[in-house]
Amino acid sequence: MTTVLVNGACGRMGSTVVKAVLDDKDLKLVGAVDIKGGADTGVLAGYPANGILVETDLAAALDRLKPEVMIDFTRPDVVFENVQTALKHHVSPVVGTTGLTEAQRNTIKELAEKEDTPAFIAPNFAIGAVLLMMLSVKAAKYMPDVEIIELHHDHKLDAPSGTAAQTAALIDAVREAHEQGNPDEKEKEGWTGARGANYSGMHVHSVRLPGFVASQEVIFGGLGQTLTLRHDTTSRESFMPGVVLAAKKVRGLKGLTVGLDKLLD
Ligand code: NAD
Repeated sequence: MTTVLVNGACGRMGSTVVKAVLDDKDLKLVGAVDIKGGADTGVLAGYPANGILVETDLAAALDRLKPEVMIDFTRPDVVFENVQTALKHHVSPVVGTTGLTEAQRNTIKELAEKEDTPAFIAPNFAIGAVLLMMLSVKAAKYMPDVEIIELHHDHKLDAPSGTAAQTAALIDAVREAHEQGNPDEKEKEGWTGARGANYSGMHVHSVRLPGFVASQEVIFGGLGQTLTLRHDTTSRESFMPGVVLAAKKVRGLKGLTVGLDKLLD
């Protein structure tokens, strides 16, 4: 049995994670934290009240409850501090919150090693999105001209999405960096950004609209052909098997592990 505290428990993802932890026989919810505070976690999950109330002070909750794992779905601007707090308490963070920079990840890696406490980060916990990344790497070897379009709900704070950033980095590792499009192409005056963000010559476009949960297209272009890989998340449930798997496996890892693919066969 792995004991778990959920941070960001009142949010869209956090409350879904609370339910997934309560529903899993090998995980035990021992606490929950959110700056909103007060709510009963049973009620958050759509069940009768269970007396495990959402607290507001992460360090105090970790001190008192001593969970083995903290699952974090909070905000890009607070996640780095949350992860450091967890590691200093020898609690393994399982991080879904996006927006961590490479420098912050490096610091987390060093701290996880120093505190001898494993940590896990996944830009996307949906198995379909992980497969999309794996297939993109395969395709990019043969079709190195590629653009990424990611589409999310309009409450999302960070752009590009963690999945798009991870996909671009993985593709970049297998293809020779080169500028794409017409070398003479120009954005119209006053229309900066029409070609999206440029990552090693690869263009990445972020769409924010109500109605989407999380979707991504990776479009490859070659002579006389295009190949489009697309993944759509239609419900937050899609992330739960990955989150539960990571919560069960993280204590057996070493240092920092990034990406759900590392936990799959
Ligand atoms: P949300 O706004 O619905 O929920 C965030 C919650 O965090 C809120 O309840 C807020 O009160 C709480 N919070 C804010 N600051 C806090 C702090 N300092 N301590 C504790 N709680 C705090 O957001 P969401 O849609 O649930 O998304 C959360 C994060 O998860 C985002 O970064 C999103 O991009 C990411 N996400 C990742 C995946 C994945 O597979 N990795 C999937 C979906 C969403």
